Amino acid sequence: MSLCATVNQIPAGKFTTGYLLTILVVIFPAVSLHLYSIESLVRDDIRSISPAINNMIHFLRNKLQSLITLSCLLCREACQWPDRLCQGCMDDLPRIQHTCTLCSEPLPRSDDGYLCGVCQKRGRSFNSCTAALLYLPPVSNMLQRLKYNDNLAFSLPLTRLLADTLQMRYRFEPLPEVILPVPLHRSRLLKRGYNQSTVLARHISQYMKIPVHHRLLTREQATLPQLTLTPDQRRKNVRNTFSCAVNGYRHVALMDDIVTTGATVEELSRLLKQHGAKTVDVWCIARTPT
Ligand SMILES: [Zn+2]
Ligand SMILES: [Zn+2]
Repeated sequence: MSLCATVNQIPAGKFTTGYLLTILVVIFPAVSLHLYSIESLVRDDIRSISPAINNMIHFLRNKLQSLITLSCLLCREACQWPDRLCQGCMDDLPRIQHTCTLCSEPLPRSDDGYLCGVCQKRGRSFNSCTAALLYLPPVSNMLQRLKYNDNLAFSLPLTRLLADTLQMRYRFEPLPEVILPVPLHRSRLLKRGYNQSTVLARHISQYMKIPVHHRLLTREQATLPQLTLTPDQRRKNVRNTFSCAVNGYRHVALMDDIVTTGATVEELSRLLKQHGAKTVDVWCIARTPT
């Protein structure tokens, strides 16, 4: 008897949490185990206990995921758990392709792999910047809704894309020891209820298997939103607004949602290096095209 048939037999009016729990806890694993044992017999494999358990977990998870159909966050078409972004929308997101080797600023194809004007002129306090996407629609809308509309579901597909980019980036290089989210001032944190950079950092931490430390950096002064300021004003706006607790980290990743001129991550990297960091890598979901 399939799970769908079992669900159909329950009268609609009596479909309670108890029924659902019974299906999830008893019937579903039993059916899945049955299917799994048949599959093993057919294959005639001799498996140790540990791989068998692993395979069973994968099998159960895949079965469960195939039953859960959600709507895409952008186009509302059906899509699979957990990302909530259909393949079409995922493929349409504006990816970063040609960039400055240091700060990841998008550059024309002919300048790919060179330094941008700012990096050539002033250099940077951070050692690298990795971004997954360009800050253009629909990415800009997704990040704004994540930031201002409590729509945290957007963090899942965005961080998966960044994690894919990071896994390529660190194939032959050591990973940072810790992820540090760019901090919000206490007043803004209380108003918003969460720091979007910490939310993103926690997801990335799961993918990259690196811990998050969200109390090491503090924003001591409430500053003007960077959005409306010129590059020079941005640098002055964030100057000496952060503090850093004593720590022994030598290689850190600084997590932000968007990097525009890089003034905020520049200031934080300078501070981290004053506190003993040797390498500061900036990770962000999107980079603003100039
Ligand atoms: Zn879609
Ligand atoms: Zn650059």
